Amino acid sequence: MQFEKSVELIETARKLMPGGVNSPVRAFQAVGGDPIYISSAKGAKLTDVDGNSYIDYVCSWGPLILGHSPTKVVATIQQAAMKGTSYGTPHEGEILLSKTIINMMPWMQMIRFVNSGTEASMSALRLARAATGRTKIIKFEGNYHGHVDYLLVQAGSGVATFGLPDSPGIPKEMSQHTLVARFNHLSDVESLFTEHGETIAAIIVEPVAGNIGVIPPTEGFLDGLRDITQQHGSLLIFDEVITGFRVSQGGASELYKIQPDLVCLGKIIGGGLPVGAYGGRRDLMEQIAPLGPVYQAGTLSGNPLAMAAGLTTLEELAPDLYLSLEQFGEVLEEGFRQIINECGVAAHVNRVGSMFSIFFTENPIEDPQSALTTDRKLYGRLFRALIRRGIYPPPSALESWFLSACHRESEVEQTLSAFSLALQEALLE
Ligand SMILES: *Cc1c(COP(=O)(O)O)cnc(C)c1O
Repeated sequence: MQFEKSVELIETARKLMPGGVNSPVRAFQAVGGDPIYISSAKGAKLTDVDGNSYIDYVCSWGPLILGHSPTKVVATIQQAAMKGTSYGTPHEGEILLSKTIINMMPWMQMIRFVNSGTEASMSALRLARAATGRTKIIKFEGNYHGHVDYLLVQAGSGVATFGLPDSPGIPKEMSQHTLVARFNHLSDVESLFTEHGETIAAIIVEPVAGNIGVIPPTEGFLDGLRDITQQHGSLLIFDEVITGFRVSQGGASELYKIQPDLVCLGKIIGGGLPVGAYGGRRDLMEQIAPLGPVYQAGTLSGNPLAMAAGLTTLEELAPDLYLSLEQFGEVLEEGFRQIINECGVAAHVNRVGSMFSIFFTENPIEDPQSALTTDRKLYGRLFRALIRRGIYPPPSALESWFLSACHRESEVEQTLSAFSLALQEALLE
C-alpha cells in the first residue's frame, strides 16, 4: 500500500491547522502514523487519495448508520439545496424531523434543534439549572458530552470527587459545580446526593458509555439514577448523541425502559450533516426562549439541508435494520472472541448492538478505570496492521467501533480474516 498523497497532504495541512486536523483524534496520535486522506466514501467503504480502500468502522464517529452516501439521503440533500441552503426563518423541514423524532421517542414532548452534540448538552444543562434553580451537576468519569468548559472534567483518582478541568484555558471556577462519579458505581452517586442533594440540578449520563470504549450500564445502574434524581428533585439527562437511534429505534431510553427528563441528540439525527438537538418534558422545554426565560439560539439551527438529511435517515430506520445490525454485530463479536482465544491474548469485546470495542486486558470492563488498563500499544499495532489489510478501525483504543446497514456478510468475513492476520502480526511486533 502506498500513502504518498496522504502524507503530502497532511504535511501541508500541519502548516495550516493545529496538527493538520479539525478534531484531535483524527490526527492518529493515539495509534501512531499519519492520518489518511479520504477522497470518497460509499456504503461501508472509504477510498483514500492514493486509491486504497477500507471497510470503515468509524462511520464518521457514529452518524452514518446507513453507511456512506446512501442514495436517498444524498438525493434529499440535493433537492433541499436547490431550494435554498438556509433561510433564517422557520420552515416545514423542522416540523417533519421533530415529528419523526418524537414518534420514535414517544416519551419526548418537545425538541429544540442546535448544531452539534456539544451545544445540545450545554443547552440541556442550562435548562436543567434554570428549571431547578440549582447549580451543581453530576457527570461520570469517562463520559464525554462535547467540549463544554464545565463538562470537560474527569476525576483524577478514581474516587468520586470535585472535578478538575482536563484542559488549560478552563478556569477552575468553571468546573466547581461539576461533581464527578464513576460510571456504573451507584454508590458514588448516592454519596454525592447525601452531601449535596439539595443543590444538584441534574445528572447527565451516556446511558451506554461510548467514549471510553463501549461500556454497557450494569443492571440497576440507570434505574438507580432515575430513582435518586426523583427522590431529590433533580433532573436526569440522557446524552443519547451516540445511542439515539443506534442501540434501538427509540435509543437507550427504549432499550433500557427508562424515561429521562431531558435527552441530548446528535450524530444520527443529522444523517451526516452537522446537527444536534435537546428535548424532553414539555413543562421543561417551555422554559426556553421565546416561550420562557432560558436563552438559547443559533444562526444555522434547524438548517434545511440538515433537517432533510436527518429526516430521510430516520425514515429508513425500520425494525429489521436493528435485527440485522444485531445479527452482524454478534457474528463479528463471536469471530473476534474466537480469534482472540486462538491467539491466546487477554482481551474482552464489549458490544451493544452495532457499537462495540475490544479491550486488551485481563478483566471484563465495567467501568472507565478498568477500560484505561487496555494495552494501547498493542491496539496501535493492531490498528496499523488492519489498515494495511483494508480495514479502518477507530484510531484510538478507547473509541467505539460502529457498524452500518452496509456492513454485511462479505464485509464481516473480510474483516474477520484480516483481524486474524493483523492480531497475530501485532502480537509478534
Ligand atoms: C460526539 C458526542 C458529543 C458531542 O457531539 P459533537 O457534535 O461532536 O459536538 C456529545 N455527547 C456524546 C455522547 C458524544 O458521543
